[in-house]
Amino acid sequence: MIQSNWGEHHMVDTEFAFSGAIGQVLRAHFERDCRSAVLSHVFRAYYLMRPCLPAFLRQRLQRSRNAGLSCPSDWYIPVDFLSDLSEALAQDVNAHSTAGGVQMSGHSVIHPWPDECQLAVSLTHDIETQAGLRRALSIAKIEQELGIRSAWYLVPHCYPIDLGIINELRAMGHEIGIHGYNHDGRLFIAKKIFDSRIGPINEAGIRYQASGFRSPMVHRNMQWMQALEFDYDASCFDVDPFQAMPGGIGGVWPFMAGKLVELPYTLPQDHTLMVTLGVSAYDVWVKKLDLIKSLSGLGMLITHPDYLDSPQRQQEYQRFCEHVASLPHKWLALPREIASWWRQRQASTIQADGTLTGPASERGRVVSLPSLFGSFSE
Ligand SMILES: [Zn+2]
Repeated sequence: MIQSNWGEHHMVDTEFAFSGAIGQVLRAHFERDCRSAVLSHVFRAYYLMRPCLPAFLRQRLQRSRNAGLSCPSDWYIPVDFLSDLSEALAQDVNAHSTAGGVQMSGHSVIHPWPDECQLAVSLTHDIETQAGLRRALSIAKIEQELGIRSAWYLVPHCYPIDLGIINELRAMGHEIGIHGYNHDGRLFIAKKIFDSRIGPINEAGIRYQASGFRSPMVHRNMQWMQALEFDYDASCFDVDPFQAMPGGIGGVWPFMAGKLVELPYTLPQDHTLMVTLGVSAYDVWVKKLDLIKSLSGLGMLITHPDYLDSPQRQQEYQRFCEHVASLPHKWLALPREIASWWRQRQASTIQADGTLTGPASERGRVVSLPSLFGSFSE
């Protein structure tokens, strides 16, 4: 029987980046993600049998499944969401222009990002294997030369974790996070399994001083995940038809899901572009980041040292890092820094005179909705 998690998901209190008609669109797309985020019979059976399947057979099954997916070439653009967003934006702006009297600043919102930044960019890596962990430092060096720090999510019960590498990453200013339990795809198959693993997951969080979690294969259940003792979760995405657990929240901003700050990834994964599709990851990342910039959004990327395994792939990643480093008005931040800022923004309010009070008042700013989506609505 396919498990319906819909009722449970409803129990999570959510607070989105914006209120008004745009907030309703964000909520509708999030709820749609919750309804969709269920594994099919086929995938449940697959994850149960997976430990017995040889690697070549797993890869063949994956390839034949992906070949069966028919996606438009711009599948990484959340078109449904954008069309709803632009309608809602017009509605919000009109509601204010017809409200009568002199509107001081139209529909005022707290800009999503601090310090006059226009977009946020966060580079993250899920480490799937011991070979990936061994490669981490060479990828980190590519970033370091460009002044970039990133986040590295470890699987705590899968491969031996070399503390020397972890400490070196930390010394370079990088962040360490936790990537599930053992990456067997079963974490969300049954509540009983999830409950038996949540203790060790939280312990790993303490052991590695991690403030963030990302679920393997981005499987998710927002209600169950309230048991995570982490500051943020990064297991949602705006759009990604290549994931076994379908869905997509459409929005490219963080939001509050119960006690967790949710940081969606919004740039397609290296594996999808480089391995599954064999297209230029650089071109796709740059194009998507342009869109995110026009939405004042969060560009969050997941790559894997496991797949950045050839000079050619590393060069492609390096080119994108160079692009990111050269972007004006970006906030290049660690996920934990973004989560911490987001809590400050959520706890701040716009006063009647248009000033900002609360923990975000120093670094934050009040802007009008049309200015926030300026280049998107043009
Ligand atoms: Zn993974």
